[in-house]
Amino acid sequence: MLAADLGLRPTKQRGQNFVTDANTVRRIVRTADVGAGDVVLEIGPGLGSLTLALLGAAARVVAVEIDDTLAGALPGTVARFAPEQADRLDVVHADAMDLRSLPGPPPTALVANLPYNVAVPVLLGVLQHFPSVGRGLVMVQLEVADRLAAAPGSKVYGVPSVKAAWYAEVARTGLVGRTVFWPQPNVDSGLVGFTRREPPPTTASREQVFAVVDAAFAQRRKTLRSALSRLAGSPAAAESAVRAAGVDPGERGERLDVTAFARIAEALPGNVR
Ligand code: SAM
Repeated sequence: MLAADLGLRPTKQRGQNFVTDANTVRRIVRTADVGAGDVVLEIGPGLGSLTLALLGAAARVVAVEIDDTLAGALPGTVARFAPEQADRLDVVHADAMDLRSLPGPPPTALVANLPYNVAVPVLLGVLQHFPSVGRGLVMVQLEVADRLAAAPGSKVYGVPSVKAAWYAEVARTGLVGRTVFWPQPNVDSGLVGFTRREPPPTTASREQVFAVVDAAFAQRRKTLRSALSRLAGSPAAAESAVRAAGVDPGERGERLDVTAFARIAEALPGNVR
């Protein structure tokens, strides 16, 4: 009904699939364990169903929405359905991919039904730029949920799994069927919970570690010796850095955890301090 009021035509390009089921919204807020001490960052509030539920549980919500119509309508929606909570909401009309600062107190948690096409970069960007975000729960398409939470050696373990693990402990905490969305997507969704932790101890920078991760998975079938040779300067330099990190150069990246990637980055020529 709200969507009709706004004359809204949801676009795939912006991942606009709205949760229309109140039970699912309640389940997300409950699983996220949002409390009165939390300032919640929500990316992509859309029509505001999750936003309203979050306002009922958290101290404040800051909602970042790229869509002009949706960002413009959200304060009115909250004023209509939860007027007593309207002053605890900040709406930021922006692209979450470019987010570097936010109004109000620093967010403590991220809770969002993320736009599917940019879910991974948005999640990693929030973890990078908002260190105050200590935990969160995001809904993403099921395949991406499995990737984010995958362990080394699993078929779907890859760049998103390692990079997310740099910042946080990540777990898939539930499945959400496609029927709770409007319009209905072609895939089911998964809930991914995370708790921030210290990155692995290393003298290499995050950028250096991530460069190793990107190189290792760019050629998934290749051994580390070969996949990292360009980054190291030569196959021999790659081999000795991987060995110095205590890893077999004949191994593939898909079997290494984030700590091993950090050790390799530290051992690469130019990164040794
Ligand atoms: N939270 C709502 C819900 O659960 O019904 C909507 C979720 S919908 C999957 C994703 C939302 O993210 C849409 O409202 C879309 O307009 C918004 N969005 C898409 N790309 C975005 C971006 N780069 N930055 C901020 N919001 C974005």
